[in-house]
Amino acid sequence: MTARTLDFKDHRRELEANRYVYAVVSRRARGLSIGLNLNPDKVCNFDCPYCQVDRTTPGGPPEVEVTALVGELDRLIELVRGGGLWRTPPFDTVAPGLRRVADLAFAGDGEPTTPREFPAAARAVREARDRHGLGVPVRLLTNATMLHRERVRAALADVDELWCKLDAGTEAYFRMVDGTRFPFARILANLLLVARERPIVVQSLFLTFEGRGPDDAEIEAWGGRLRDLVAGGGRIDLVQVYTVSRPPADKAVGALDPARLEAIAERARALGLRAEVFGP
Ligand code: SF4
Repeated sequence: MTARTLDFKDHRRELEANRYVYAVVSRRARGLSIGLNLNPDKVCNFDCPYCQVDRTTPGGPPEVEVTALVGELDRLIELVRGGGLWRTPPFDTVAPGLRRVADLAFAGDGEPTTPREFPAAARAVREARDRHGLGVPVRLLTNATMLHRERVRAALADVDELWCKLDAGTEAYFRMVDGTRFPFARILANLLLVARERPIVVQSLFLTFEGRGPDDAEIEAWGGRLRDLVAGGGRIDLVQVYTVSRPPADKAVGALDPARLEAIAERARALGLRAEVFGP
C-alpha cells in the first residue's frame, strides 16, 4: 500500500463514514479546517467549472440531521484533542506548524445556506464549539446567493466570519466562471447588505479557461465592484485572490500564474484593501 501524503492538493475527504463533518488542511485557513457539509446530496445552485466536488458519484439524501452532525463533530473534536487524528494516516504527515484547528467551516458539496436546516446547524455548531471550549471561529463560505433571505440573515448571528465568493466583475464573466444564471446584481446587493453589518472576507478565484485568463477589463471591473462595496458603506476585512490548486472536473480550466494573481491583488490594494494571494 502506498503511503498517503496530505497536502493542499489532497483534500480527499477523510472520516469517510461521516455524512456531514470532515477535516482538511486548508492553506487559506492555515491549519486544520473542520468542514461542515450541509449538502450531502451534492446539489449546488452554482455550477462553477472549477468546482472540486466529485459529482460523478451520486450524493445522498438531501436532509440534514443536525443531531447526527453534532455527534460527528463531537467525535472529531475529541479525536483532535486527544492527538489521535495526528497519528492517523494521512494526517500523520501534516507539518507540525499546521497541526492546529483553524476553524469550523460551513463549506462542502454545495451552497451551505440553501438547506432549510442551515439555521439549526449554525446554532448547534456554535454551541458545540463553545461546549468544547474551542477558541476558533465558525466560518461560512458562501456564494452569497441566499444572504438576503430572512432565515439566513437571522442565522448569521451564529457565524463569526463570512467568506463570500466574488469571482467576476461583469455579469457575462460571472455567468461563465460560476456557471449560473443567477443575477449578478443580486450577489452584489447581498454582499453590500452583509458588509454593511460586519466586515467580510471576499474570496475571489481566478483561473484560465482554455488557456486564457481574465482580461484587464474584467479585472478592472472586479476592482470596480470592490470599490462600489466600500463606497456603499461595506467593510471588507480581506480579499483572498487565489486559483485552482487541484485538478477540476472541467479540463478546460487551469491555474492562473502567480504573477498575474499578484497583479490582481494589487488592484484591490490600490483601493486600500488588504489582499492575500494563494497560488496554485
Ligand atoms: S459554489 Fe462552490 S460547491 Fe457550488 S459549484 Fe461553485 S465551487 Fe462548487
